[in-house]
Amino acid sequence: MSVLEDARAVDAVGGVCDACLGRVFADRSFGLTNRERGRALRTAIGLEDDEEPASVDAADCWVCEGYCDAFDEWAERAASKVEDVEFESYQVGTRPPALIEENERMLREDAGLDADAGERFKSEFNREVGKRVGRLTDTEVDFERPDVQFLLDLAEDEVTAEINSAFVYGRYRKLERGIPQTKWPCSACNGSGRQGREPCEECDGSGYRYPESVEQLTAPVVEDVMDGVGATFHGAGREDVDARMLGTGRPFVIEIEEPRRRTVDTDRLQQDINAFAEGKVEVEGLRLATHDMVERVKRHDASKRYSAQVRFDEPVDAESFADALAELDGATIEQETPNRVDHRRASKVRTRDVYEIEGELEGSRTATVEVHGAGGLYIKELISSDEGRTTPSLAGLLGVGAEVTALDVLRVDGEDEPFEHSAYFRD
Ligand SMILES: [Zn+2]
Ligand SMILES: [Zn+2]
Repeated sequence: MSVLEDARAVDAVGGVCDACLGRVFADRSFGLTNRERGRALRTAIGLEDDEEPASVDAADCWVCEGYCDAFDEWAERAASKVEDVEFESYQVGTRPPALIEENERMLREDAGLDADAGERFKSEFNREVGKRVGRLTDTEVDFERPDVQFLLDLAEDEVTAEINSAFVYGRYRKLERGIPQTKWPCSACNGSGRQGREPCEECDGSGYRYPESVEQLTAPVVEDVMDGVGATFHGAGREDVDARMLGTGRPFVIEIEEPRRRTVDTDRLQQDINAFAEGKVEVEGLRLATHDMVERVKRHDASKRYSAQVRFDEPVDAESFADALAELDGATIEQETPNRVDHRRASKVRTRDVYEIEGELEGSRTATVEVHGAGGLYIKELISSDEGRTTPSLAGLLGVGAEVTALDVLRVDGEDEPFEHSAYFRD
């Protein structure tokens, strides 16, 4: 059958508005709205029959029950939900009443057409309201990961706007020891700060094992500037609480939930954070990042460079010290899960490479050792041997007990390519 014959069949069912008629032929021609399609088909039928073209108001249409006249109204309702929100992209989803989907099937069935001919009411509603929302808010549609996701619930007569998170990437230096990377709730009171009616004695009622963290010294500033309702700190690995993070710093992403501002001045944000952190933590290289940057910092393989202060149990001479370092330089190290690490974790042996190691004795019982190694290499154990659980080790090769008294991380670098890649930035 021709398009016009099919259109006559749909028209003959009766009581169908132009848009609902046109929607059955949505896959024919382009650049037309379904309403224009329906009108054009009715005009062609009218010309062929030499009669006035049929006309049914959407308000009287039994298929859409008037919703095809309501695109503007729903778009205005959607836009009003985000009047005070800054965003660049959006997506519209529609939850149509079950009855309308049933009506669509009945219309096609009665006209003797495929049950899925043309497109669904829901698709048209998404598109038509979406176009209008874009015009009203001067933003672009994005089907991948929009800043704002609208849901039009026709059955419940409700519009909701979900504001997706915004992300800021940067590198941090931690200039003081004793600061964990993220909030560390007190285990004695489960972070409540209370034990029964009394303040928790373990944490003085703060709820935290450590009063500050890199997260607490940075994320609240970003949350404030972006006017969000919550923040999460994602680091590219983490150093021990007692280790400093120096040099070029460690990559991180701060995720802000439901931000009302997302295009912020990152230079100024950097200054604000550094002022807030009072020299305990410094950030640099801040940039607006995409959602995918979170996985990037968490999963990207990175090598680390450390500087360790080492103390020996007995005097060590320069020659054996140099020999031991030469053995470790470029070596593959076998490490059982360290004793100090989570005991719930099953012990397993893994291998990690020492890319480069050098050191300097200071007197006979202390030294500074600099190590560049693969991600996951345990440095304290590389020095101490962890009771023979790491081999080879500095202590093992020297036959002298050795321990790290202070540890600094100097660099965290992507193994194959830098963390910073233009695909992960919004600016
Ligand atoms: Zn209709
Ligand atoms: Zn506590």
